[in-house]
Amino acid sequence: WFGSKEYKIVMVGLDNAGKTTILYKLHLGEVVQATATVGSNVELVRFKNIQLEIWDLGGQQNLRPFWATYLKNTDAVVMVVDSTDRARVGVTKSELFNLLESEELAKAPILVYANKQDLRDAMTVEELTQSLMLHSIRNHDWHIQACCALTGEGLLDGINWIYQRTK
Ligand code: GDP
Repeated sequence: WFGSKEYKIVMVGLDNAGKTTILYKLHLGEVVQATATVGSNVELVRFKNIQLEIWDLGGQQNLRPFWATYLKNTDAVVMVVDSTDRARVGVTKSELFNLLESEELAKAPILVYANKQDLRDAMTVEELTQSLMLHSIRNHDWHIQACCALTGEGLLDGINWIYQRTK
């Protein structure tokens, strides 16, 4: 997928959001050419023409000075949210907006995966849109996609949204 152009995608989210599960469900984890850990919380995954950077957000102020380096030439940002984690939705929101202030992201589109929709107490896409204040995002195209990383439901719809905006 994603044609032949080179892409850099940054995938972020709090710990336990489901980033690793998504990676494996998309079969990216099985075909990586090289995996390197940059600093404590950043992982690089290379898949064909896609360079994926995966970060745990939250509790890592020490990485902030390096954001500019990490974010350079980013084509798209994927934020993974545990839709059942009501306690930390505020943290998720501030981390998202901090990130979006970064000049390096320029006009990169933002995909939010509202993950764990299989769980009964999951916040809906509407609730998360409100809590994360997505409507106040300026200068970025954004989209929120309900998904379940365990079954894979919704994952490709999200990827397709990015593809339509970056090709
Ligand atoms: P990461 O820290 O963001 O990489 O999160 P992980 O991928 O390690 O997932 C954290 C936990 O949530 C694991 O126990 C996963 O099995 C679980 N998990 C991830 N996605 C889903 C989902 O869509 N539904 C449910 N029920 N559990 C999920």
